[in-house]
Amino acid sequence: MSDMISLDAAELARRIHAREVSSVEVTRAHLQRIEAVDGPSDGSAGPDGVHAFLHVDADGALAAAEAADRAIAEGGPVSPLAGVPVALKDNLTTTDMPTTCASRILDGWRPPYDATVVARLRAAGLVPLGKTNLDEFAMGSSTENSAFGPTRNPWDLTRVPGGSGGGSSASVAAGEAPLALGSDTGGSIRQPGAVTGTVGVKPTYGTVSRYGLVAFSSSLDQIGPCARSVLDAALLHEVVGGHDRCDQTSVNAPLPPVVEAALAGARGDLAGVRVGVVGELSGEGYQPGVLAAFTDAVRTLGELGAEVVEVSCPSFSYALPAYYLIAPSEASSNLARFDAMRYGLRVGDDGERSTDEVMSLTREAGFGAEVKRRIMIGTHALSAGSYDALYGKAQKARTLIVRDFTAAFETCDVLVSPTTPTTAFAIGERVDDPLAMYLADLCTIPANLAGNAALSVPCGTSPDDGLPVGLQVMAPALADDRAYRVAAAYETARSSTPDAAPRIPELRALETTR
Ligand code: GLN
Repeated sequence: MSDMISLDAAELARRIHAREVSSVEVTRAHLQRIEAVDGPSDGSAGPDGVHAFLHVDADGALAAAEAADRAIAEGGPVSPLAGVPVALKDNLTTTDMPTTCASRILDGWRPPYDATVVARLRAAGLVPLGKTNLDEFAMGSSTENSAFGPTRNPWDLTRVPGGSGGGSSASVAAGEAPLALGSDTGGSIRQPGAVTGTVGVKPTYGTVSRYGLVAFSSSLDQIGPCARSVLDAALLHEVVGGHDRCDQTSVNAPLPPVVEAALAGARGDLAGVRVGVVGELSGEGYQPGVLAAFTDAVRTLGELGAEVVEVSCPSFSYALPAYYLIAPSEASSNLARFDAMRYGLRVGDDGERSTDEVMSLTREAGFGAEVKRRIMIGTHALSAGSYDALYGKAQKARTLIVRDFTAAFETCDVLVSPTTPTTAFAIGERVDDPLAMYLADLCTIPANLAGNAALSVPCGTSPDDGLPVGLQVMAPALADDRAYRVAAAYETARSSTPDAAPRIPELRALETTR
C-alpha cells in the first residue's frame, strides 16, 4: 500500500489498468498520506504540517475513483491516466469544491463552472483530490502570501516550497498526489518545481486553455503540469492541452507531441541537439551550490551527445523590471472584478453605506498586502502621466526579450539555465523584502514574457545545503516537445547516478485529524 504514494503516475496507471490495484485503493493511499502529513486545511498544524491543501474532497475523490474502476472493469477504452489522482491549484474553478485563490475576498464563492482543464481531467477519468495552496491570486514566490498560512517544503519543513504554486509542487514532492496542475505567470510552476525537486512545465502560451483559471496577468498566465517525472508531466499535459473555443487566446494548432518526445528522450541520446547556455542567467548573485549542480547538468547533456554552446540574451536583464510593471498592470485591471457585488466577501453592507463604500471596505478587508501592492503599482503604471514611461517601456522591453529568444533559437534547439538563483529559502526570510522575493523568478520570467515553452527538471541537490536544484529547459513556442525530449534524456541519465535523489522525503506523521 505505502509504495503506492511514491510510484510515478505512469506506473500507477499501468497497475490500475491491469487491475493489479484499484483506483479506489490508490486514491485511499493518497488520502491517507494527506491525512498523515498535511495537517488541517487552515494550516493549524503549524510547523509540522506540509499544508499543501486548502481543501480535500475525500468523498468526491472516492466516487471518481469508483467510476474509473467501473469503466476499466467494463473493458472499454480509457484514457492513459484514468484512475490516477491529481491535485488542483486553488485558482482553477471547480463546481464541487470551493475556489479561494488563497484570498479572503472569495470567501464562500462557488464557481458556476469547471475550468476547461478540470473538465478535461474529469472526462479522462482522473481523480481530483482537492485544491492546493498558493500565494494569494498567484502573486508571490513562496506561498507565504496565502491568506490561509504557508505551505512548507517537504524536504525541509522550515523552508518555503516556492510559489505561487507551492501547494501543488509540495503535494507532489510529499507523495500526497502523483500529479498536480499549477499556473505559471512568471515562474509559479517551474520555481516551486525546482525547489521541491519535482518537474514543472510551463507550456507554450495559448496551448492550454485558461478558461476557468482566475486571471492574474492574462498575457502571461499559463496552466501546466507538476509531476515527479518528465513522462508523467507529458501525460498530464496531453490530457489538459489543446484548443478550446472558450479561451480567446487559445492557439488553434495541434498540441506538440510531448508524450512521444518524453518517451524518445528517455530511450535515446541527444546527438545533434544544440543546447545554448544563457550567459546572462548565471554568475553573481547565484548560490554557488546551484551553479555547481547546473554545471554538472550541462556536462551530462554534453555526455549525452548534445552540442553545448554559450549564448547571450542581453535584454534578459530587463525581464524582471518589465514583468513587475506588466503583470501588476494587468492584475490591477483583472482584480477590479472583485467589487463586493459579484463574488464572495461583502463587508459593511448595512443598507446605509453607498456601493463605493462597501466596495472599498470589502477590498480593504479581503485583499492581502501583496495584492494591494500590485494593484497600486499597476494602477500607477497605467495612469495617464506614467503610461509611456512605465507600462509602455515595459512592453518595449518585452519585444527586445522576444527578439533575444528568436536570435538564440536560430543557433540552438533549446536554451538552459538554472531554474532559480537559490535553493528553497527559509520561511519568513524574504517576507519583508519584496525585491528579494521577486528575484526568485529571475530565470523563469523571460519565457513568460515571450510566451514560449519552458520546464524545470530536478538536477540533484546543491552541495552547500543539500536542497533540490532545478535545470530549466526553454524551447521555442509550439516546440514544447524539444524541452521534453532533452529533459527526459537528462532525467534518465541522472537517475542512474549514485547521488540520484530519493523519490519522496520521509515525513513524520502528524497526530492531527481532519
Ligand atoms: N513570483 C511571480 C509573481 O509573484 C510569479 C507568480 C506566478 O507565476 N503566478 O508574480
